[in-house]
Amino acid sequence: MKIPFVDLYQQYNNLKSELDAAIAEVITNSDFIRGKQMEPFEQEFAAAIGSKHCISCANGTDALYIAMRALGVGSGDEVMTTAHTWISTSETITQTGARVVFCDTDERTFNIDADGVKAKITDKTRGIIVVHLCGQPADVDRIRKLADEHGFWLIEDCAQSHLAELGGKTVGTYGDIATFSFYPGKNLGAMGDAGGIVTNRDDLAEWMTLFARHGGKGNHLIEGINSRMDGLQAAVLRVKLPHLQEWTRKRQEAAARYDELFADVDEIETPYVAAGRSHVYHLYMIKTANRDSLRQYLNEKEIPSVINYSYALPFYKAYEYLGHSPADFPRAYANQGKILSLPIFPEITREQQEYVVKCVKAGLASSRA
Ligand SMILES: *Cc1c(COP(=O)(O)O)cnc(C)c1O
Repeated sequence: MKIPFVDLYQQYNNLKSELDAAIAEVITNSDFIRGKQMEPFEQEFAAAIGSKHCISCANGTDALYIAMRALGVGSGDEVMTTAHTWISTSETITQTGARVVFCDTDERTFNIDADGVKAKITDKTRGIIVVHLCGQPADVDRIRKLADEHGFWLIEDCAQSHLAELGGKTVGTYGDIATFSFYPGKNLGAMGDAGGIVTNRDDLAEWMTLFARHGGKGNHLIEGINSRMDGLQAAVLRVKLPHLQEWTRKRQEAAARYDELFADVDEIETPYVAAGRSHVYHLYMIKTANRDSLRQYLNEKEIPSVINYSYALPFYKAYEYLGHSPADFPRAYANQGKILSLPIFPEITREQQEYVVKCVKAGLASSRA
């Protein structure tokens, strides 16, 4: 049985006539950069999140950089973030001139540990970027309170968490700014790179719109950068957005099916969901002690699996200069050798999942033998 990690072709095929027509219209109108689909998409996406503004941009990494520049971060400042995330979150902190301050994670949710955040606050702390990793909301309500008490800002990196909810509120509405990626494999994916930034604050929205487009057209009010979304991507995203809720429900159903199929497998720890939140399962990340031998077995059976990510960020060469040791981030360090993401996407079938689980069980048995 052939099982992809994410089945983008099937998603396209299910919406083929609508997508083809939307793409053809962009080409007919030569609407390649931004274009007529952009403003409607920005408004529709802001409404879907429950935020006032959405500013489109080139990708989710730029979204983080633009957000921090809008909040005035620069050299001499410190910005906290989680030790377990994709490097976009931390490399953009460095790009602003600020210093990255990593915080350890919760062992079971993989998200930043709010108690650990408190201990890392200094008089140079300007802000924090919280990531809702795998699609599970982090403790962003508690961190919002910390930010308000100590007078620093909060950015939510929602690249993996479109429509996830905490306490009945969509993530992306807790932060001063929230950033999204529409990379093809994300829960809402374009057909190339694309990103979005949401905020309720008019002043930040206005500044970010200028900054992402060379500081303004006609009159350059400031120096900016070039971070635009293609018209083709906006057209594709407008076709897909109305399906996002249904796709999210299907991901949750698929996750529940895996949970059930793994219920009698002691060696596998299935994703733990903390109270009061909806997990949107961008990733179905399990933990197991014999991860590397299991992965090798799955590779032989052509079952795709991914390690998100091979190391906690402080242990990559890029962050050697911070001089950290495993004892600084014991939980993120312990997880890095155990995590494994299994195929999940809205269209995955029960048969595909049963086959994945059968191979995982066989892989565990063969490493015991
Ligand atoms: C994908 C991702 C990004 C970056 O998005 P791009 O669109 O690929 O630049 C940022 N943060 C996290 C947590 C991501 O998963």
